[in-house]
Amino acid sequence: MKISRRSFLKATAAGIGSATLGGLGAVKAEATQPDQVKKWDDEAGVVVLGIGAAGLMTAITAYDQGTDALILEKAPKEHAGGNTRVSGQGYWCPADTDNAVEYQKALSDGFPIPDEVTEVFHKHSIHVTEWLTEMGADMRTIQTKGEYPEFPGGAEYVCWSKKGNGYQRLWLLLMENAFEKRKVRVRYETPAVELIRDVKTGEVRGVVAENKGKKIYIKAKKAVALCTGGFENNQEMIRDYLGMPCGYPKGSPYNTGDGIRMAMAIGADLWHMDNQAGPDFNFRIPGKDWAFGYSFSPPGHNWIWIAKDATRFTNETYFTKHGKIPFHGIYIPVPTPLPVHCVFDETMRKSGPLYPHEYFFCWWHDMEKYKWSEDSSYEIEQGWIIRADTLKELAEKIGKDPDTLEKTVSAWNKSCEEGNDSEFERDPKRMAPIQTPPFYAAEFVPAFTNTQGGPRRNSKAQVLDTNREPIPRLYSAGELGALYSWHYQGGGNILECLVFGRIAGEGTAAEKPWV
Ligand SMILES: Cc1cc2nc3c(=O)[nH]c(=O)nc-3n(C[C@H](O)[C@H](O)[C@H](O)COP(=O)(O)OP(=O)(O)OC[C@H]3O[C@@H](n4cnc5c(N)ncnc54)[C@H](O)[C@@H]3O)c2cc1C
Repeated sequence: MKISRRSFLKATAAGIGSATLGGLGAVKAEATQPDQVKKWDDEAGVVVLGIGAAGLMTAITAYDQGTDALILEKAPKEHAGGNTRVSGQGYWCPADTDNAVEYQKALSDGFPIPDEVTEVFHKHSIHVTEWLTEMGADMRTIQTKGEYPEFPGGAEYVCWSKKGNGYQRLWLLLMENAFEKRKVRVRYETPAVELIRDVKTGEVRGVVAENKGKKIYIKAKKAVALCTGGFENNQEMIRDYLGMPCGYPKGSPYNTGDGIRMAMAIGADLWHMDNQAGPDFNFRIPGKDWAFGYSFSPPGHNWIWIAKDATRFTNETYFTKHGKIPFHGIYIPVPTPLPVHCVFDETMRKSGPLYPHEYFFCWWHDMEKYKWSEDSSYEIEQGWIIRADTLKELAEKIGKDPDTLEKTVSAWNKSCEEGNDSEFERDPKRMAPIQTPPFYAAEFVPAFTNTQGGPRRNSKAQVLDTNREPIPRLYSAGELGALYSWHYQGGGNILECLVFGRIAGEGTAAEKPWV
C-alpha cells in the first residue's frame, strides 16, 4: 500500500516535533516520573523502540531469554523498518577476532573508542553468520577487500543472504523470527516521545508514546532499549552536529533523532555526533524529506557538479568511502559548497534516465516506487530541472556567475578532449564534453546513508550518562550511537545492529523486574 504524503507527514510530524522541541536549549531537563503516570496503557518486560535490525534483534534475543518484548514503532507498517528495510542488508562478517579488532581500532584512529567496546563487538561479530543461519538464513559469502585496505587488519568478507542479493531478506528474516516464530508484539504508528524515569533511583521505568494524537504510557518492567536509528531527517541536528547546512536521507525519513533526544533529556552522554556515512551528492525532489541515491551514476558522462561559485569542487565519479575522500594523508567528508548543481547537456539527457530503474535499494525506489522518466522530460516539466539555450542563460537562471560557468565548462571540455582531468582526476572513461544545447541544471543536495553518533554506550549495550555511569535499565543498539567514530567499513552498521542487538537483548532480559 502506498502511503499518501498527507498521512506520511502526519506520522512524521509527531516525531519531528518531539525531536526538535524548538532547539537544543528547549530539551526537557527531566523525563516524566512514574508517579505522574495515572494509568499504564500497556506493558512488557522489555520495551524496544524501533523496528529496524537493532530493535528486532534486541526483541528476539530478549524473548529467547524468556522475557516478553514489545516494539513501539513510529512509522505505519507499510513504511516501518527504518534504514534496515531499504538498505543493501549486507553485513561485514569478520573471520578472526584479533584481525577485526586491529582493523576496527584503525577505523577509529584519531577518534578512539574504549578498547573494551571494540573487543566485545568482535568477540561476537565472528558468530553472526551462525546466529542468522540458526534463524533460517541461507547465506553466501562474498570475499572483498576492506574499505580501507591500507589500514592494519584490513577487512575480509561481506555476507549476503542468497535470495534477492540480500535485498530485504535480512529484515524479512528478522521480522519472520520476531512475529511468526516468536511472539514479539509491535505497535505501529506509535512514536516514543519521552522516557519515564524515577529520579530517586535513576531507573528508566517506561516510555511515553503517542498514538492517534493521544499520549499513552508504556511500562517497561525490566528495561527500555533505544533502537530508533540516527538523525538522518532532522535538519536542525544535521546543522548542529554534521557541519552541513542541510542533508537528506537515502533511507528512512522517519529517523529524526528521537531516541538520541530522549536519552539526552535524561542526561545521556553523546559520542561522535559529527560522524556520518556520507555525504555524496544526489537529486532531491523539492519538498521531499528524502534524497535519491545510492550514488549518482547516470548512463551518460556529459555532466559535472558545480559549487556555489560555479566551479567544480571534486571528482564527481569518485567512489567515496561512504562519503569520505582522501585529503593530504587523512580522510575527510566530501565538501558541501552549497548550493550545488549538476550541469549537463542534451546528449546526456537523451542517454537515459538520470537514475536508472534497476536500483534495488533506497527509499525512493523501494518505498516511493519513483521511476525517473526515460529522457528526464517529466522532471523538466515539473521545473525540477532547469533548461536554457546557452550556458550564460543557465547560470542566470540558477543564480550563478555566467562567466565562471562558461570558463568551468570550457575547461571541462578541454580536459575531455585531452582525456585527462588534471584538476580532479576523473576517470577518462567517465568524461564527456558538455557542448550540445540546450543545457540543463538540477540542484543536488548532500545525501547520506546514515548518521553514526548518539548516546555513548558501553560493552553491555547500556547507555552511559555524562559521568560515564550506566543509566539504569536503559540500553541501546544500532546506528543510534554506533561505534564508528570516523572511518566506516561497509556492512559494519548492520553487523553492529545484530551484535549490540543481541547484547542489549541479553542485558535487558537479565534485569530484575522493578514490579
Ligand atoms: C540505502 C542504504 C543502504 C545501506 N546499506 C547497508 C548495508 O548493505 N550494510 C550495512 O551494514 N549498512 C547499510 N546501511 C546502513 C544500515 O542500513 C543502517 O545503519 C542500519 O540498518 C540501522 O539499523 P537500526 O535498527 O539502528 O535503525 P533503522 O533500521 O533505521 O530503524 C530505526 C527504526 O526506528 C523507528 N523510529 C524512529 N523514531 C522512533 C520513535 N520516536 N519511536 C519509535 N520508533 C521510532 C524508525 O521508523 C525505524 O523503523 C544502508 C543504509 C541505507 C540508507
